[in-house]
Amino acid sequence: MSKPIVAVVGRPNVGKSTFFNLLTGTKKAIVEDTPGVTRDRIYAETDWNGREFAVIDTGGIEARTDDIILSQMREQAEVAMDMADVIVFMVDGKEGLTAADEEVAGMLRRTGKKIILLVNKVDKANQLPDTFYDFYNLGIGEPIPISSANRTNVGDVLDDIVASFPDGSTEKDETIGIAVIGRPNVGKSSLVNALIGKNRVIVSPIAGTTRDSVDTPFRWEGREYTLIDTAGIRRKSKIYADVEKFSVLRAVAAIERADVCIVMIDGTAGVTEQDKRIAGLAHEAGKGVVICVNKWDLVEKETNTMKTYTQVVRSELPFLGYAPVLFISVLNKTRLRDVMVYAEAAAENSALRVPTGQLNSLIADAMMMQQPPADKGRRLKIYYASQIGVKPPLFSFQINDRKLIHFSYNRYLENRIREAFGFDGTPIKFVFREKR
Ligand code: GDP
Ligand code: GDP
Repeated sequence: MSKPIVAVVGRPNVGKSTFFNLLTGTKKAIVEDTPGVTRDRIYAETDWNGREFAVIDTGGIEARTDDIILSQMREQAEVAMDMADVIVFMVDGKEGLTAADEEVAGMLRRTGKKIILLVNKVDKANQLPDTFYDFYNLGIGEPIPISSANRTNVGDVLDDIVASFPDGSTEKDETIGIAVIGRPNVGKSSLVNALIGKNRVIVSPIAGTTRDSVDTPFRWEGREYTLIDTAGIRRKSKIYADVEKFSVLRAVAAIERADVCIVMIDGTAGVTEQDKRIAGLAHEAGKGVVICVNKWDLVEKETNTMKTYTQVVRSELPFLGYAPVLFISVLNKTRLRDVMVYAEAAAENSALRVPTGQLNSLIADAMMMQQPPADKGRRLKIYYASQIGVKPPLFSFQINDRKLIHFSYNRYLENRIREAFGFDGTPIKFVFREKR
């Protein structure tokens, strides 16, 4: 089940990043970071009182002129409206109400989504600035004073946020969620249209979901799927500045709700930095991944072109070693069936469970074939392994000493597990626990 998404919207400099860091900074990942993944500080998962959610900071964009600020804020608001369950609209209590605030409020009011209006930089909790009451004029409810710098009132705000999440229990969806992600112009909408086309399934909206309008159910060879965020794909960004940044944001929200991400790359352009970033997000979110190199019709081919290209993709995206690489042409409808076959396999593998007995005998064999790493005469011992989660498959190892863990040995174990059980298309993750 996907986590609720909270989007933080507001003018530059009101304190969005400070607030974002406050919400997400203290959370410690239980799974190690992947080497080679470029990180954007725009998205993070966190929890409050045991309720998990994702936060996106729609800011983090350098605006140059007032015109651009406005158009970016419109785009921000649009992203938030499409993607978020709860929108946090932040204004600056020191500066007071501005025209740009009013403009964005106007857009947000029309969404019908839960909006929390935060007046930031009210550093003295018992001293509201005179201009505070102007914020009532925005027409989006009660302004809440906070200070992100001093961390005042943040707990109450979090209570509010969590209380306004949609009821998760109604969000039951057994179909496979597919997100098509990638840079602008790689061919995402073309693929989406080719897949959905006449395969669209008409369904009545599920009660309690706030985002079904951007998802499109469709049927493919007798099985039902849901294309995530097709509205964001079809509605092209109108602004010229930082389009790529927003495309990352849209990708982030779509990834969160997907079972499988189709990472699209333009075959004529090769793997760019932006491709790496987007692919990294899918990997880190633990989703199934299928890499599609599109526009293959335009690529000049010799005997080994696919093989050579695959090697390039592998070395540029080393963390996606488990993801199949397909060479497709949406234009010519080449290998589109494979896209669905591999996407379905990735979804199934990400939900696979390995029996504990088989896993432990595999690990015992693996340790015999190749001794675990040692340091100063002490050797890593693995007492017991079990799979404790799916989507992605998560394995827990009970060991003697965390300091003896070595990346290369983890990779060795991962390879053995993959050989034995087949987890094509899905990341698998490890956690280590010391036995006391
Ligand atoms: P963003 O552009 O909206 O992401 O804003 P930032 O988080 O980068 O903050 C802009 C500036 O406001 C920084 O210098 C912050 O230190 C400052 N700031 C953020 N929150 C507060 C606050 O609660 N009180 C005060 N006085 N300053 C703050
Ligand atoms: P998006 O921005 O990622 O959604 O990309 P679009 O689907 O809008 O495609 C961008 C451009 O690439 C359009 O002009 C498409 O017609 C073109 N395009 C998409 N797929 C292919 C393909 O397989 N081959 C060729 N030659 N062009 C393609």
